[in-house]
Amino acid sequence: MSTAVSPQSPETLAVGTDARPLRVAVIGSGPAGVYAADILTKSEEVKNGLVVAIDLFDRYPAPYGLIRYGVAPDHPRIKGIVNALHKVLDRGDIRFFGNVDYGTDLTLEDLQAHYDAVIFATGAIKDADLNIPGIELDGSYGGADFVSWYDGHPDVPREWPLEAKEIAVLGNGNVALDVARVLSKHAEDLLVTEIPENVYEGLKKSPVTDVHIFGRRGPAQVKFTPLELRELSHSKDVDIVLYPEDFEFDEASDEAIKTNNQIKTMVGTLTNWLVDQDDDAEPASRRLHLHFLHNPVEITGDDGKVTGITFERNELDGTGNARGTGEFVDYPVQAVYRSVGYFGSALPDVEFDHRRGVVTNDGGRVLGADGTHVPGLYATGWIKRGPVGLIGHTKGDALETITNLLEDRVNLPAASVPGTDKVVELLDSRGVEFTSWEGWLELDAHEKALGAAASAAGPVQRERVKVVPREDMVSVSRGSAAAVVGR
Ligand SMILES: Cc1cc2nc3c(=O)[nH]c(=O)nc-3n(C[C@H](O)[C@H](O)[C@H](O)COP(=O)(O)OP(=O)(O)OC[C@H]3O[C@@H](n4cnc5c(N)ncnc54)[C@H](O)[C@@H]3O)c2cc1C
Repeated sequence: MSTAVSPQSPETLAVGTDARPLRVAVIGSGPAGVYAADILTKSEEVKNGLVVAIDLFDRYPAPYGLIRYGVAPDHPRIKGIVNALHKVLDRGDIRFFGNVDYGTDLTLEDLQAHYDAVIFATGAIKDADLNIPGIELDGSYGGADFVSWYDGHPDVPREWPLEAKEIAVLGNGNVALDVARVLSKHAEDLLVTEIPENVYEGLKKSPVTDVHIFGRRGPAQVKFTPLELRELSHSKDVDIVLYPEDFEFDEASDEAIKTNNQIKTMVGTLTNWLVDQDDDAEPASRRLHLHFLHNPVEITGDDGKVTGITFERNELDGTGNARGTGEFVDYPVQAVYRSVGYFGSALPDVEFDHRRGVVTNDGGRVLGADGTHVPGLYATGWIKRGPVGLIGHTKGDALETITNLLEDRVNLPAASVPGTDKVVELLDSRGVEFTSWEGWLELDAHEKALGAAASAAGPVQRERVKVVPREDMVSVSRGSAAAVVGR
């Protein structure tokens, strides 16, 4: 039997026209996903007449990914970026579908049926592993889990055990700084931000006196950025403590300080703090210690609970790398947070590089098991490049991915069900409670109103209070805010 299509059927229309736009799905509304959508809509091809229809999906009702669920609440300058992303999505030419999980609510097959191209921008939310004895003890935590808690991630428990007086944070990147700063800061100083009530209440009860950050290499090898490092000294009633024996510089360090302004600035900041330590000054009630050349070898415990941590002292080997000295040192701590990096999660039906934690890709073109491009599939952001770099870096990722997608344009496998409403019908038929951009605007306004109400009731101006349980987020986004408030 013939399966010929009628002349008016979507299959026969030229893709990229008003009648049959190029249909693109972006999975993940973090910065990488939003930048990719924005860059595509502003491309030369679109300026020259290519018509695109972009649907942006996220598993949460709120957009912006790690900007909302990773960036520390006391980083207000990120607001400028949020405003810019908001403007992109508020234009109305990119549809937002929140509360839609790729792999559960939509499969790859569904996406390939409805779209000509799919861009994965699913980022990373988990901690990289650290395999040392004792890592499983009660009181040993992943920094990413703590970050998710203080940022009000809807899928993590509302309570966080903050019982330790002395805490070790393992890692020498910006996330370790965030974790250590939030752990050591007085809760009142975070009230001005958007932290949820449960986070404020939890931090207020913390008995912490000493937070120790440990890095494996020297001060010239830290992975911090200068602004984030300097910010440590802005916490009220928290002293920064450094140790002269950790200030070791090998040939590679000297070279790095000479040739890299960022490293020079950070080594300068650390050295000034070391020199300026004033033993006679009035001591703060909390301390933040920065240790270098410490390699964690074992978390020790008693009765299943963390009681300490053992490090081998390292030395630099001339190339900026560290090697063990055979000298061991113990610190009494009741909690350990590992912040040795994030790691991407595999996506159903997409080839995954388990060593790097990224979707297997070449310049954003997703590769199959045979190493060739799977037509129509792309990746961008942390899931493409790995979980390193600031928000700004995801713009470059997106540009490369979109350039390649547009280069492949004429060979994209055309969607078999390209109708604009078809995906909505599919989600409805599955009972998926998806949310929309208008729904996010409702939720945003609701959170700001909660912040205003808290400000009126208390002495501190709150910019917003996050609505955290997912069902409440969905409820507010889908127009039943009254039910949530009335609970
Ligand atoms: C703790 C922490 C603090 C940081 N602080 C800063 C900072 O102060 N300044 C700065 O510039 N950068 C900071 N960064 C880096 C910045 O967050 C990243 O560069 C950026 O968020 C990466 O963007 P992305 O879009 O690739 O991933 P993400 O931001 O992770 O976005 C991925 C999106 O995909 C969605 N998603 C995932 N899986 C699915 C699925 N199956 N279905 C549907 N949707 C899905 C997620 O919900 C999320 O919205 C920080 C990162 C971390 C971890």
